[in-house]
Amino acid sequence: MPPVLRACSGFSVALGNALFPKRCIACDRLIRSQASPGLAEATRFQKSQDAPGAFGDVLSPYVCASCIGDIKTVSPPYCEKCGLMFMSRKGENHVCENCMKAEHFFSAARSCGVYEGPLMEAVHKFKYLHKTRMAEPFSLIMFQMLTRVYDIAGIDIVAPVPLHIKKMRRRGFNQAYLLIQPWPLFAQIYGIDISHIQIAREILVKTRETPSQVGMTRAQRAKNIKGVFSAANEDRIRGRSILLVDDVLTTGATMNECARTLINKGASRVLAMTLARTDAIRRNRPRDAVFGN
Ligand SMILES: [Zn+2]
Ligand SMILES: [Zn+2]
Repeated sequence: MPPVLRACSGFSVALGNALFPKRCIACDRLIRSQASPGLAEATRFQKSQDAPGAFGDVLSPYVCASCIGDIKTVSPPYCEKCGLMFMSRKGENHVCENCMKAEHFFSAARSCGVYEGPLMEAVHKFKYLHKTRMAEPFSLIMFQMLTRVYDIAGIDIVAPVPLHIKKMRRRGFNQAYLLIQPWPLFAQIYGIDISHIQIAREILVKTRETPSQVGMTRAQRAKNIKGVFSAANEDRIRGRSILLVDDVLTTGATMNECARTLINKGASRVLAMTLARTDAIRRNRPRDAVFGN
């Protein structure tokens, strides 16, 4: 960032801190945060796959230290296909039992953190209470993760999982789109070339509103979401390698249905990435669960 912009950015952050004492987005306690000159610039770029502090560095102006300590990052060993973190912290990545049985249209899915505790709280507030200031730190966490888990040169398009137009209007934003919108800026700050990647918010459309999937089984979720997406522009999709982004991955049913739609329209490959993921197997197979590890 040029020095002038850096100074302006630092000043506005300092002014904001002075006017509005910050509270933890998860637990509402006051945070003793330092003014920082722009989030991405102030944040160490985490290059290693299993970087401790991948969340802490980015979230410290928004989440208190105690809550940050309770956030679990997804780290190996995990399922090579769906990214599920295994309870055993030893051994190599392998394919989980669900992925051995299920048909996946995405080549791989990866997530940054486990969807529980303070991370779940923060995502809820971002999504349902319109705390859109969380979009930037969440987006930065995902951008750093992108560079660690996927080969950027092999991605042509990054697209958000779409919301139905009515839901989008009620909420006022698509949280998945907010998670990728700042990536070109972050790429510039960190000197990473993503100029070949199109950020395409409208290659997929959700054509039908679906009931909330909370409490549904894996099979119910797959049925609930079947056939609800359509490809908006086949010419843009054909032969392209597409990264789909969403906030949370649960059973992967939504992601898989989006991927199926894109592959059927000629996409060469679909990758998936989410900010957080639940432990999809825990309900059925406690032995594979990640929680409590
Ligand atoms: Zn807190
Ligand atoms: Zn899996």
